[in-house]
Amino acid sequence: MHSGNCPLCNPENDHDVLWRNDKLRVIDAGEPDFPGFTRVIWNDHIAEMTDLDQQDRQSIMDAVWMVESVMRHELMPVKVNLAQFGNYVPHVHWHVIPRWPLDSRYPDAVWAPARERSFEQQLAWDVFREQQDNLLTSYHATLRDVLDTL
Ligand SMILES: [Zn+2]
Repeated sequence: MHSGNCPLCNPENDHDVLWRNDKLRVIDAGEPDFPGFTRVIWNDHIAEMTDLDQQDRQSIMDAVWMVESVMRHELMPVKVNLAQFGNYVPHVHWHVIPRWPLDSRYPDAVWAPARERSFEQQLAWDVFREQQDNLLTSYHATLRDVLDTL
C-alpha cells in the first residue's frame, strides 16, 4: 500500500502525538469511549512486525510494554488489551487499551458492537469517564518521562 493513502502517515493526523523518536511515535488515540486508549506507531510504512529487524522489533515492543506499565500504574484498568491488526491500515501500530467493567464493550473486544446499558449503567460510566479524563494529563506526562528512557 502506498503511504499516501495511509491515515497514519497523514501529517494532519499527527496532532495527538505524545512522544516520538526517529523510530516510532506514541499517540493518544482520542477514543471518547476508551479514555487513555494509546497507540504505538512505527514511523516507517511497513505492514508486518517481521518486516522489522530484531533490534527494531525489540524497540517497538519495549515501547508497548512501557505504555502498558504506565497505563496500569496511572489509570488502574482491570485489564489492558493489546492488539496489532493493520487490516484496514497495513502500517504497523499497536493498540494499548485500558478496559473497565463499565465500558461500553466490556468484556468484548472494543471493536465489538456496544452492549445495551441501563440508564444507571450509562450514568455510572459518565461519572467514571470524567474521573478517568482527569487522570490523563498525569498519565501522559509520566508516559513521556518513561519513554524518554527508551
Ligand atoms: Zn502508513
